[in-house]
This record gives sequence, C-alpha cells and structure tokens, in this order.
Amino acid sequence: MTMTSKHRLPCPHCSQNLRIRKSQGLTPVYRELVVECRNEDCGFRGKARIEVCNTLTPSDSPNPTVDLPFTPRLLQQAIKQAQQAS
Ligand SMILES: [Zn+2]
Repeated sequence: MTMTSKHRLPCPHCSQNLRIRKSQGLTPVYRELVVECRNEDCGFRGKARIEVCNTLTPSDSPNPTVDLPFTPRLLQQAIKQAQQAS
C-alpha cells in the first residue's frame, strides 16, 4: 500500500510525517502497519490499523467474502430511489 503525498499520516507526538515500515493484511478489509516517525529527534515508532469500513461505489468484480455496508447516507438514498421506482 502506498500513500500519496496528499494523504499523510502525522506523528501523534511531533506531527511530522510517519513512514510506513511494514504493512500486513490480516483480512481483505483490515491491515496493520508499523509506522516510524521521520523526525530523527522524535524517534517514535508505533502500530497503526487501517480498516475499509464502508462502500461508496460498489465493485464491478466483488469479492464474495467481503461484505461492506453502504454508508448510512448512501443507504438512505438507495432506499429512497427504490421506493420511488416501485
Ligand atoms: Zn514524531
């Protein structure tokens, strides 16, 4: 997993950027990262978790083991559209 320069993860102590040292996918939607502060004067290392929690746009090649709910707002829109269609 790569982070674009736009999406940075700040160190919780000194707010410099964290570098991802290791990334381990435990499930298709969940991974754990070992992060390290780029600030040598800080030296913080820690563990981070990334979880994909909701669907915004459904996949055209869905993984049958993955069930990610729509965000509540999108779900309401879908229900409203379904009601209007019937
Ligand atoms: Zn730091």
